[in-house]
Amino acid sequence: PRTDLSQTLRRLDGNSYGAYKQLKGSWRIGDAQLLLDRVQSDPYAPPSLARVRLPLATAGFPQALIATKDRRVAAGDFLTRQFSRVARDLGPRGGKDTGGISIQRTGQEILERSSVLVPDPSAPDAHVEVRCEIALPAAGRRIKGHAAQRLLMEVLPGVVDRALRYANLDARALEAHVTAHLDAQHLREQLPQRGLVAFVADGAVLPRASGHREEPLAHGAVPFVTPPELRVELELEDGSRVSGMGIPEGVTVIVGGGYHGKSTLLQALERGVYSHVPGDGRERVVALPSAMSVRAEDGRSVSHTDVSPFITNLPTGADTRDFSTSNASGSTSQAAATVEAVEAEAAVLLLDEDTCATNLMVRDERMRAMVPGEREPITPFVDRVGALHTERGVSSILVTGGSGAFLDVADLVIAMDAYRALDVTDRAREVVREFPRPGDMRPAESFGELRVHVPTGGSVNDAARSGSGRGPDSTHGSDRRGDREKPARGRGLDTIQLGREDVDVSALAQLVDPSQTEAVARLLEEVQRAADGQTPLTRLVDDALDRVARDGLDALAHHRGHPGHLALPRAQDVAAAYHRVRR
Ligand code: ADP
Ligand code: MG
Repeated sequence: PRTDLSQTLRRLDGNSYGAYKQLKGSWRIGDAQLLLDRVQSDPYAPPSLARVRLPLATAGFPQALIATKDRRVAAGDFLTRQFSRVARDLGPRGGKDTGGISIQRTGQEILERSSVLVPDPSAPDAHVEVRCEIALPAAGRRIKGHAAQRLLMEVLPGVVDRALRYANLDARALEAHVTAHLDAQHLREQLPQRGLVAFVADGAVLPRASGHREEPLAHGAVPFVTPPELRVELELEDGSRVSGMGIPEGVTVIVGGGYHGKSTLLQALERGVYSHVPGDGRERVVALPSAMSVRAEDGRSVSHTDVSPFITNLPTGADTRDFSTSNASGSTSQAAATVEAVEAEAAVLLLDEDTCATNLMVRDERMRAMVPGEREPITPFVDRVGALHTERGVSSILVTGGSGAFLDVADLVIAMDAYRALDVTDRAREVVREFPRPGDMRPAESFGELRVHVPTGGSVNDAARSGSGRGPDSTHGSDRRGDREKPARGRGLDTIQLGREDVDVSALAQLVDPSQTEAVARLLEEVQRAADGQTPLTRLVDDALDRVARDGLDALAHHRGHPGHLALPRAQDVAAAYHRVRR
């Protein structure tokens, strides 16, 4: 690394902004190393990409704190938040003339992120590495060398000191963050052996600040209380016990009046596939990691999905075992999403009447009389949900306030009553006796065989970069120039730009962080590249994620150095995004 950053910046003062490019490379600042991987070409371009490496020995983290992968993931997530806070506190307030320092944004979930890498303490030459953005200061289109000097040589080391040196951190907050993740992981691990698919601890705070804010509701939240029939005790990481509601495998129906907290409970379970930060309220609300939220999404594209368990005999004569449309209806989109989740090995499906297509869920007695079975292409979910569990081992948790049809097939019925959960399974059995189901409502014995989804090779985006293998130079060669060949990227939480196409992933409720969307974008590219017309989609996705598990999120980098903002998504969400690509 070079040591003359100070002189270089003074020399550059007043030069045209482009001369900042000379900073590209590696610099020594005290005991840290600054790597400027990409330097912005003008003050209005996205900020420059930098990494700061600090030897683990000087960062001073206790070995035990970061001894396992889960611990390092949680610590990295904590340090990202800390870096962001300190950069805001110490840094200039981000005008073009002062520049600024920033890092990947975070939400309520603890995720594996590319922003701070905490090393395995047993690795040789272990470093803590931060990936941040630095907007280099400008006066008009000229370099402000002195401001840059202050930013890079005073502010940045100050931020690093307060964000990355163990001695300067709130050790208890760090410990709590790591513990929250370990506890949640441990709770999740215990679910299968207890025959559970989800768990909500007593005292959990489920409601959120608002429909668009994931922080806990600040005032008037009613903490969760477990109905006695459903009480279980699970173990935390340190061996202590926590009591709460266990939701067993099978078909669970959540009923209750409007506005009594049904959707709030289901959404907490949806997010229970991730760990939450201390203070979130849902730290001890967990679901099996593969739990998949399924909803109707009219207008989405469906490509070669076998929707035959739900839809057969379309009037058009289309083959529903190999169904494609660029504009699905509510029911077909939900049928596709359900089948895709099952194929992606989701162990639980989560459905909310608020976002489901009624005609895919149920058909009532009168409608069964009006439209004879052989004229109706749809076999409703209520007829398949039982076999889905008994035959395929896929449980369902569904919220319904409007239809009692699912009471027949429910193993467990939970009522939400003024935010209180009650076990009303016995009452539901009585109701079913009192109001028997229509004679021709016949739960299917079998879910039906599914055709395995095998992506064909040679998609649009693939063709654009044919010949670009994954050799050492392919990630930053000249083969990516031009519009068609732009690398896939995430745009915010809800859109993936893949080739010329914008893939809408807004219906994926469990994609919770824009950095996950970015990672999904790059994974889609890998899946497309690896598609050979023989390997099933699930296998392609698993292979790509295995590589990430082995080499870290950096395996998804388009360039050497700073990999961009990445956070780990689930295989189910990658597959679901793949299915939304228009072909
Ligand atoms: P439902 O789906 O039964 O109609 P929701 O889950 O949408 O009801 O909840 C209705 C409202 O009540 C929402 O504003 C939600 O934030 C709030 N809410 C849900 N659970 C609680 C709770 N435990 N304490 C306080 N408010 C809650
Ligand atoms: Mg609702």
